[in-house]
Amino acid sequence: MEKVNSHSFRGIAEMKTSLKQRSKEIYQITIPTPFLVGPINTFLIRGDALTLVDTGPKTDDALTQMRNKLAECNVRTSDIDIVVLTHHHPDHIGLVQEFLPNAKLVGHPKLRPWLERDEQFLLNTRNYFYNFYEEHGVPMNWIEEMDRIHNNYLKYTTKVPLDLEVSEGDTIDGLPHWRVIETPGHAQSHISLIHEQDGTAIAGDHLIAHISSNAIIEAPYWNEVERPKTLIQYREALKKCLHTSFIYSGHGDGIENPRELIEERLKGMEEKAQVFKRKMGEEPIQVFDLSKKLYPKIYQKQTALTFSETLGHLDLLEEQGEVTSFSENDRTYYRKT
Ligand SMILES: [Zn+2]
Repeated sequence: MEKVNSHSFRGIAEMKTSLKQRSKEIYQITIPTPFLVGPINTFLIRGDALTLVDTGPKTDDALTQMRNKLAECNVRTSDIDIVVLTHHHPDHIGLVQEFLPNAKLVGHPKLRPWLERDEQFLLNTRNYFYNFYEEHGVPMNWIEEMDRIHNNYLKYTTKVPLDLEVSEGDTIDGLPHWRVIETPGHAQSHISLIHEQDGTAIAGDHLIAHISSNAIIEAPYWNEVERPKTLIQYREALKKCLHTSFIYSGHGDGIENPRELIEERLKGMEEKAQVFKRKMGEEPIQVFDLSKKLYPKIYQKQTALTFSETLGHLDLLEEQGEVTSFSENDRTYYRKT
């Protein structure tokens, strides 16, 4: 990639170092979103090239804020050389077309079908979930509603091609000292960047200080046969960040003591799994019915999230040998061992 050294960073140099701008190399730009999660943090990195990590959703408010905040650093959207996308969720990738054609788009191979709206992939995913939710006891009209909500998110993104795939251990030309690590769990496409010298990480939604990230269920990709057990995956990916010194997070404040928070989160999942186990009762139960017992107030409004949360902890209990699943008449049930 072409090296760019000509950008003026007087704007950054003159800015007071605040909590939001911990390093002179990294400048946090917080962008509003229309989603429940609230504003998203994107990061401008001054290296050999000018890099932006994540973009915000495709809304007028997000674009205005992005342009204004970049202008404070004497940067225009067309000055950005590289856009690294941590994962495929709309609040992270939505504004990406504003940086084209100048910027190179960088992400995990599993980001590609989402970013490029690969029709076959999206159709397979959709079909998979219709069958999967039905098998786990979700009524058909609820499945259709989840499908409608999911499709509605598409309006916050644009179909664009991914320029460069990165995976575990890769470095990115123009972004020296930063290494890519794969951090699947919250999303299968999720990557984080780790600074090799000071141990800071830019970690998207992998770890958020004020809320625990949901290990959202996803369909198998391409020739994969099994669905990924996202909570188990997420726990392993969290352990990869135990040694980091500071985490710039996709939402909320930066994380000063990642090890402490990661250990708390890992323990929290085990405790939650025990609570879920107690709620299961003695009879075999389906995931959807258990999610109703666990989340009586929100399962109707947040069906996909509460289902994910329930299934993830059942996967964990199953891995620990505390519950087992079985199939009967095309329906899957769980029971205590
Ligand atoms: Zn996300």
